[in-house]
Amino acid sequence: MQCCNNEDCNEKGRICIPESKAPRVVVIGGGFAGLKLVEKLKNKNVQVVLIDKNNFHQFVPLLYQVATSGIEPDNIVFPFRRILSRQSNVVFRMAEATGIDMDNNQLNTSIGSVPYDYLVLAQGSVVNFFGNKSFEWGGQGLKSITDALDIRSLVLQNLERAAVTCTTHEKSVLSTIVIVGAGPAGVEMAGAFAEFKKYIIPNDYPELLTTGMTIYLIEAGDRLLPAMPGKLSEKTLRYLNDLNVEILLNVKVKSYHGSVASLDNGQVINAANFIWTAGIKGSSVNGLPSAVYNRQNRIWVDEFNRVAQAKNIFAIGDIACMVNDKFPNGHPMVAQVAIQQGRLLAKNIVRLINNKDIESFDYHDKGTMATIGKQKAVAFIGNRSFGGRIAWVLWSAVHLMSIIGVRNKLLIAVNWFWNYLTYDKGDRVIIRKYSRKGDLKKGVNHE
Ligand SMILES: Cc1cc2nc3c(=O)[nH]c(=O)nc-3n(C[C@H](O)[C@H](O)[C@H](O)COP(=O)(O)OP(=O)(O)OC[C@H]3O[C@@H](n4cnc5c(N)ncnc54)[C@H](O)[C@@H]3O)c2cc1C
Repeated sequence: MQCCNNEDCNEKGRICIPESKAPRVVVIGGGFAGLKLVEKLKNKNVQVVLIDKNNFHQFVPLLYQVATSGIEPDNIVFPFRRILSRQSNVVFRMAEATGIDMDNNQLNTSIGSVPYDYLVLAQGSVVNFFGNKSFEWGGQGLKSITDALDIRSLVLQNLERAAVTCTTHEKSVLSTIVIVGAGPAGVEMAGAFAEFKKYIIPNDYPELLTTGMTIYLIEAGDRLLPAMPGKLSEKTLRYLNDLNVEILLNVKVKSYHGSVASLDNGQVINAANFIWTAGIKGSSVNGLPSAVYNRQNRIWVDEFNRVAQAKNIFAIGDIACMVNDKFPNGHPMVAQVAIQQGRLLAKNIVRLINNKDIESFDYHDKGTMATIGKQKAVAFIGNRSFGGRIAWVLWSAVHLMSIIGVRNKLLIAVNWFWNYLTYDKGDRVIIRKYSRKGDLKKGVNHE
């Protein structure tokens, strides 16, 4: 493939991209939605330019296992260039999309601009702290592999400090974990930390035998896993109670200062580890009219995932909000929606290029699952609810099948099998130190 004329690119501040006569589809984000779209455009008469701020795709559903030392980070991230190496019509550029110039059909990025015939927004979502500066300062979200590594370091560093601290109170503060939000991410993380407490603390941290480790799971609503049927919420509550997780329902955290979480019922929890899984919002890129964003910062799209007021701009996955009778508040922000929208949009773009009618999106819900510890899970599939070991086997199989690459599937299977046999969590290392930075009043600040 010939590269473009570099001088011309430099003059216009453009990203260097090989010339092509085929229509150009520029995609922001290689998450579940963007990557599926790109893969489905293989061998089609289009030039695809994938822009992502990272050089890898991450398998978000297993981030909590990295955060809790269950698996290695490399097992769930995959370089785009390797995934797409056999797809000749794709160009990958690592860059951050910074703005859309709708008048000139051009995307601006941190490394230059790129003109498009079709633009696909698939930049997903970010953690939503709902404007609370103390959460932004002290709360660690879980949205990326770096977040997962930050949580792992935070907890392990605090355990190391607890081991050499003499006062019982200080030991207990350093080894208390507060998880806010009892959706799948919060529940799964609480279960994994509870097993860490049960099987790892007694062996690895004899200094903490008297104080132990306390895990709180705090939810503003009246049940765990609110998107699942009530029966499964109750099962989940039982499983987590068996693992000694302290569950607080109908309670909101008001603030987190220093290592003190203040709740709206007057209770105060002293915890050096504060993990936020209570909200996400769309990840915006400048340049679209503000009217296209809803309150959750998701972009309104029609039934074809087309952005309002833009003929050749589409949004798919978490960032897109498509409303219909079945989903009056938009589709759930889950991987299956993202994958199915990516698949259909690839087909529709080809049809548009060939002047054919396009198909509207119809979501096929394949069910939801969440695991609690290493032998229990809950699942809601085709209107059937079940839990226990069968759900856990199913959860494991579905996640293994979804991981990209045979090598990663094998590595994860070995890790899980080892963990199952030995109750060991092998990846308890602080590779890079975690520190909170910046100013509590201004918010945001992690390294
Ligand atoms: C902890 C956690 C656990 C989850 N577990 C499950 C689960 O078990 N099952 C399930 O179905 N769903 C789960 N989800 C939800 C699921 O991960 C999302 O619905 C899905 O990832 C959405 O896919 P996406 O392609 O829209 O966005 P993402 O997967 O978030 O991908 C967005 C991509 O865009 C890139 N990007 C973002 N901004 C820019 C920019 N400005 N410039 C360039 N690139 C950019 C990012 O690097 C990323 O690669 C979970 C989510 C979380 C946070």
